[in-house]
Amino acid sequence: MHIKNDNPAYGAELEAFAGIPTFMRQPASRNLKGMDVAVVGIPFDGGAASYRSGTRMGPRKIRESSLIIWGYNRLLDVAPLDVLELVDYGDIAIEPPNIETTMGLIVRDAQTIINAGVRMIALGGDHSISYPLLKAHAARYGPLAVVHFDSHCDTEGGYRNHGTPFADAFESGLIDTGAYVKAGIRGPIFHSEELSIAEGQGARIFTIERCLEDGIPAVIEQIHDIIGDKQTYVSLDIDVVDPAYAPGTGTPEVGGFTSYQILQLVRGLKGLNTVGFDLVEVSPPYDSPGEITSILAANLVFEFLSLLALKKLGG
Ligand code: MN
Ligand code: MN
Repeated sequence: MHIKNDNPAYGAELEAFAGIPTFMRQPASRNLKGMDVAVVGIPFDGGAASYRSGTRMGPRKIRESSLIIWGYNRLLDVAPLDVLELVDYGDIAIEPPNIETTMGLIVRDAQTIINAGVRMIALGGDHSISYPLLKAHAARYGPLAVVHFDSHCDTEGGYRNHGTPFADAFESGLIDTGAYVKAGIRGPIFHSEELSIAEGQGARIFTIERCLEDGIPAVIEQIHDIIGDKQTYVSLDIDVVDPAYAPGTGTPEVGGFTSYQILQLVRGLKGLNTVGFDLVEVSPPYDSPGEITSILAANLVFEFLSLLALKKLGG
């Protein structure tokens, strides 16, 4: 394990199976002074209206799975923990049965972090948390370019839940609608107009068939063309990955990306001006006994960190 943390309670000398699992063994701290990045858990699943719950257990499990990431990103040629000052901020204190109160608590804590000049990587939790996260980031940066990986558009109207964050963000003017991408969209939908409603909100949609027929490198190139150098928020719903690779999620859709393809897509964001990230919808109670979903999630967060490290290095 690659470590700068010498706290004996969860420090460098421990093997992956030992100790207290902070994210990649980084200090559990709310001292943001001099920090580049805070990994923050948001264990809220009160927005899981459509099917299975359990994403409240996501942050803890992703942290545990992060302990087997050794530190050097071979493909991006960077060791993010050598470059970044990182804290595990712990979890935001949410109010389980109250989505509106929780949204306010998320905005408040996210603003504290962002206003300290620290980049945030949020671990969900269900996808409803992206709305307050976008709100907090937009308050600092203005309307954001968005890259949204998901099998679902999440642009439904109606009462607030994990299927509405991008409708809510669009209506609140948080999204730069000229730089807004959704990739991996698939599955049976509610009605024939669902994708055109999302497109009407500015989304450029890369359906799964388009991604797999054009090929991932071509999609990456098109994403860069659309986003350019705008300040970008990245939201990754783990159900964008096929349930064969990521069964531990609330609303699985068959026929998705492999683990390799989603890693490829996230690495492909190299060069974008990314200001915030979330990874949502990991539901450990439905994961395989081998915990493949949370292991994939932890590795995707490692890729996020690698992107931030490259950016800090001027890449
Ligand atoms: Mn989804
Ligand atoms: Mn979603």
